[in-house]
Amino acid sequence: MITADDVGGVHVKYLYHCPRQLWLYARGFRPEHLNDAVQLGTAVHELSYSRFSPVDLGAATLDHLDNQLWVHEIKHSAKRREADRAQARHYCHQLVRIGVDVQGAVLHYRNPRKTERFPYTDDEHQKATEDIDRVLDIVAQAESPPKLGRTSCRGCSYLDYCWSQ
Ligand code: SF4
Repeated sequence: MITADDVGGVHVKYLYHCPRQLWLYARGFRPEHLNDAVQLGTAVHELSYSRFSPVDLGAATLDHLDNQLWVHEIKHSAKRREADRAQARHYCHQLVRIGVDVQGAVLHYRNPRKTERFPYTDDEHQKATEDIDRVLDIVAQAESPPKLGRTSCRGCSYLDYCWSQ
């Protein structure tokens, strides 16, 4: 079972998208590489933001940390999602944990091209800590959480698994 130190950005993203997805992911179920949207995201990273240097934090890999200590995350979806902000907030939390005086996060949306900047405040730190606790609670459940409604599953990499039974 994972500990707080093992919680990565994907765990937090799935926490916000679907608790069942988080639960499955934490048990090693990883169909993301089969998903076209995930492949597109990878291509976008490689083609459009080549100046960025990914930073490996062990449990998490963020897209870039600039020299003013702002985390940068690239989002290929046009939708603004709470999960995007939560994931970036988690990276800030991880950096603070290892002694980096991070300023906050910048989300880069490409369609339309736009950035959103979130300072890492005490309130954000508290939320990031609570998210880690929520991830651990869900992962520790003996049974998988229920499926979302079918419309919320559109585009999810786990769709075949959840809906073909
Ligand atoms: S297909 Fe739906 S229920 Fe299954 S993990 Fe994805 S969002 Fe959750």
